[in-house]
Amino acid sequence: MLPQWVIEEKRDGHPLSESDIREFIHGYAVGDIPDYQMAALAMAIYFKGMTFEEVTVLTDAMMRSGELIDTHSLEWPTADKHSTGGIGDKVSLVLAPLVACCGVAVPMLSGRGLGITGGTLDKLESIPGYCTNLSPEAFLETLAACGCSITGQTAELAPADKKLYALRDVTGTVPSIPLISASIMSKKLAEGAANLVLDVKWGQGAFMKTLDEARELACTMVAIGHSMGRGITAILTDMNQPLGCAAGNSLEVVETVEALQGRGPADLMEVTLALSAEMLLLAGKSHSLDAARKILMDTLASGAAFEKFKTMVRLQGGDVIVLDDPSRLPQAVFVESLVADADGVVTEVNADRIGRGVMLLGGGRVQVTDIIDPAVGISELCKIGAWVTKGQPLLKLHANAEDKLSAAQSMVSRAITISPSAPTSSPSLIVETIRPKDL
Ligand code: URA
Repeated sequence: MLPQWVIEEKRDGHPLSESDIREFIHGYAVGDIPDYQMAALAMAIYFKGMTFEEVTVLTDAMMRSGELIDTHSLEWPTADKHSTGGIGDKVSLVLAPLVACCGVAVPMLSGRGLGITGGTLDKLESIPGYCTNLSPEAFLETLAACGCSITGQTAELAPADKKLYALRDVTGTVPSIPLISASIMSKKLAEGAANLVLDVKWGQGAFMKTLDEARELACTMVAIGHSMGRGITAILTDMNQPLGCAAGNSLEVVETVEALQGRGPADLMEVTLALSAEMLLLAGKSHSLDAARKILMDTLASGAAFEKFKTMVRLQGGDVIVLDDPSRLPQAVFVESLVADADGVVTEVNADRIGRGVMLLGGGRVQVTDIIDPAVGISELCKIGAWVTKGQPLLKLHANAEDKLSAAQSMVSRAITISPSAPTSSPSLIVETIRPKDL
């Protein structure tokens, strides 16, 4: 089958055979099929979609385009979590050590922030010395030593996805549910965890702007994981307002430390506990979500999760002194409050605008090669439902340049709406849970 015939099949709306998909992906990964033919196929998939069988084969072909990490040598059951990304989402930093303390190993390969969404690796890199490019051997050694490791995707892991994602980014073919599902799942399945919990976010600050799109993406990924023999659950969560009260890299590490010490904001803890409980359930460490939550709460209260986080950071070369004394993390020169211009109740904290504010401060990337400033961002962010009086601080901006501070001020001042009365209903943070039996 010639590549152009495969493109024509999809263009005309026909399902592709397993061998066509596998040959095409292999040919692209090894450089026999050029970018222009892959781009044409991606565009045909964008318009014509894929059957579930096609998406599963595509995921498997991309997963097998590189190395598969084998976690069988670990003495614990394994589970990982993936989030589709949002503003202030530092759940991975709290969840990985917490779940590891409960006897489930967490092998986590994470990404960097791009656009308004933050990246777990950038947050961890604000800890001086923390290594985010462990070799597969060092990754497994860290896991064996402390039960969790968070590092970056190696060049050997799902290379077909790496190439295809970069191509989709510049050919208008990112927002396709079959392509997104195969992209995320190929990487997560290659990582070797037996169980996977997905946090699929919807809303202004998320990749998926509507609940229906988020649900469709979640169902597709759950079905793929299940068909490949993994334990898998997805939770749909709200990303219309940021998670927690801090956005920006070192400020989110400070909030992580507070959460691990039992002082985390309610919404961050709710999402973290919901995802962690599903991981314990899937890994067979608990028979019910209530029992799992009790184990997790007791673990947090004991201080063990904070100690585990410090162990992981130390094993990956990070300076744990900054975790005991977060004032030693990178600090911005200017710290300015944004204050309420009226009495009332906060009815909107627009995650998209808060994310843009952090980018304007220099805390995010426009291009993958951009250097970010770990010290800048937003802290003490108010939450929807808070009653405020005129002049009361709504958030603090941390900046290293006055021009960036004023650009961010004007962006975030439009993120927050104060109304005279409370809304009659507020959106649910955890919208629904999707398991294979629900499909
Ligand atoms: N994240 C990924 O890894 N891939 C996509 O296609 C979209 C988001």
